[in-house]
Amino acid sequence: RLKEGRALAEDVWSIYNVANLPADCINLGQGYMNFAPPQWVKDAATQALQGVAENHYSHPKGRMRLRQAISQSYGPQFNRELDVESEILVTSGANEGMYSVFVAFLEAGDEVIMFEPFFDQYLPSVTFNGGKPVYVPLHPPAASNKSPTSNEWSIDLVELRNAITPRTKMIIVNTPHNPVGKVFTREELQGIAALAKEFNLLVMSDEVYDCLTFDGKEHVRIANLPGMWDRTVTVGSAGKAFAATGWRVGWLIGPASIIRPTLAATTRIVFCTNSPLQEAAAAGLEQADQRGYFATQRAEYTERRKILTDAFDRMGLTYTLPQGSYFILLDISNVNFPEDYPFPPSVLGRGRDFKACWFIALEIGVSSIPVSEFYCEEHANIGEAYARFGFCKDVDTLKKAAERLQKLK
Ligand code: GLN
Repeated sequence: RLKEGRALAEDVWSIYNVANLPADCINLGQGYMNFAPPQWVKDAATQALQGVAENHYSHPKGRMRLRQAISQSYGPQFNRELDVESEILVTSGANEGMYSVFVAFLEAGDEVIMFEPFFDQYLPSVTFNGGKPVYVPLHPPAASNKSPTSNEWSIDLVELRNAITPRTKMIIVNTPHNPVGKVFTREELQGIAALAKEFNLLVMSDEVYDCLTFDGKEHVRIANLPGMWDRTVTVGSAGKAFAATGWRVGWLIGPASIIRPTLAATTRIVFCTNSPLQEAAAAGLEQADQRGYFATQRAEYTERRKILTDAFDRMGLTYTLPQGSYFILLDISNVNFPEDYPFPPSVLGRGRDFKACWFIALEIGVSSIPVSEFYCEEHANIGEAYARFGFCKDVDTLKKAAERLQKLK
């Protein structure tokens, strides 16, 4: 079934994987932390492994302790009591949760609207399930010698309306946004919500970076807008919340009408999510508030963000200042590299940004992700202007990367 195109090509995370890059290259590519989860969360994982039940199957809905912890922490954020039996589903990472929503809801030819650039996994996850991705642009700010903020990337509600057809089933919202870092405003989400209601569409809201907003930006949940709870599924992730991306523990929150069919899909795909790390994620959520964990984490990320933006300022290159997530888009349209550089075959056939990122990784020693991967093939040229740098690294590593990047000036 996967005969051609993006679906069969090597994905960007594999091409720029540390395994393919020199050992001393600093990896600011994939969102890959170089620090461990907090000690108290790791302790909970270790403790879970000493048990009996914690090493065996969980209920496909997720372990009761984790569903209860999700209900307790997120209920107030959704202004409602979240029913642990019917409104919460633990998934094997946010990605599997989203995939299961597509399995449960897409019929052949159903159209799924996504704002472009989009997190790359959405595209194959939709097409593998017979859906058709439809793209609505997040318009980059007009070129200028001043660095814009992520919220200057704008949506046009007329374009969104025009993208809706009788086959449209769902809109994917992603806030804070990967790779732009945009935190959608209440007004923008109200505009999207009004169209979802007018045309009776589902909304999948990928909010895995919900705990990472900066500059006082408020994270608004589209599920909370009037009339939206019943048609929205919200996606969350322990990996982002607790620096544990390899745990593959995520969750979905939504009405029973969405959670129940998605549970059927997830049960057949993975049956259940790994048990001991669900216990640890539960401990994380149970104790986060009393430890002031998310506020500390936000302050740490604000400092990390500044190390990179200061470095880019010194280089005289413009970037998008992210107001959420841990990614920065650097404008690389004026970064030069030799055309005849020995690029590997996986990079050779791709856009200018793939080559620039490869060159920067090998010659400067800092890896990043080419942004055309977050565009469909037809619009890839827009993404070719950018490389995405992650700042989910400790301060010393970011400072070292900042030093190395000065050679790009
Ligand atoms: N979310 C991660 C990122 O954007 C990558 C996830 C993945 O490797 N598929 O860096």
